[in-house]
Amino acid sequence: MCYMDYQEVIDKCQQLNEKYQIEEEKFYTVIDQLANTDLTTDQKLVASYQQLLQVVSNEIIVMEEMVDLQPTCQMGCAFCCYFPIVINEMEAKMMKAAMNQFPEERKHALQKHFDSYYKTYKEQLSELDTVEDVNDDFKYSYKKKMLPCVMLDTEENKCLAYEIRPMPCRTYVNYITPKVCEENVMPKETISYEFLYQEYMGALNEFLQYLYEEEDTGMVTYPDDLYREDLLINWMKGVQLR
Ligand code: SF4
Repeated sequence: MCYMDYQEVIDKCQQLNEKYQIEEEKFYTVIDQLANTDLTTDQKLVASYQQLLQVVSNEIIVMEEMVDLQPTCQMGCAFCCYFPIVINEMEAKMMKAAMNQFPEERKHALQKHFDSYYKTYKEQLSELDTVEDVNDDFKYSYKKKMLPCVMLDTEENKCLAYEIRPMPCRTYVNYITPKVCEENVMPKETISYEFLYQEYMGALNEFLQYLYEEEDTGMVTYPDDLYREDLLINWMKGVQLR
C-alpha cells in the first residue's frame, strides 16, 4: 500500500486551517433537542455524552473529506491504546452508565474482562498515581510501561467499548504509515483534533448548567465532577456492571 508522506499531511492540515470552520450549532443542537425530551435526567445525560462524541467523530470525517485525508488507523492496531487516557468524573460516570445499557451478554463479558484485567495488572496499577499534569514526559514514561487500556481486548487488539470510547481516542489519528506507531513510543507524525474538546465539553457544561438551574443534575455532581480528572484505568477500578 502506498502511504502519504508526513509533509503531505502537514500541507493538508494547513489547508484545513484555511478552509474548516467549526459549526458550534451541531454541538448545541444535541443538547437543545435532548432538553425537550421526556427522558429521565440520567438518560438525557448519557444520550448527550454519546451523541456529542458522535458529533466529534463526524466532524473529523468532514475535515478529512474536505482535504482528502484517509486515516491509516485500522482494526487490530492498538498502539495508541497504551497512552494514558484521562477523562473527568462526569465522563467516567457517563461511560459506566452507557456500559450498563449494553445487552446482558456484553455486560457480562466486559465485567469478566475488568475482573481479570485488574488482577493481571495489579502490580503495575499499584504504581500509578493520580494524574496531576499530562505533559509529554508523563505520556512518554507511561507509554513505555506498555500497560494496555482497561477497555482493550489484547488478544484481538480491539476496544471493548468502541462506540463510547472517550474524546482522546477519537481525536488522535494517523495518516501515514502505521509503522510510525509501531516503531515509536511517541510518534510525532500523528495528528490530534483535540481542539474539538472545547465545543464538546462546552455543550456538556451548558447542558449541566441548565439541569442545575432546574435543580436536577441526576448522577452528576455539578460542577465538581467536571473538574476531577483521572486516568480511565483508575475510574474503572472496582466497577460493577448491573
Ligand atoms: S477506550 Fe478503547 S480506543 Fe480508547 S484507549 Fe481504551 S481501548 Fe483504546
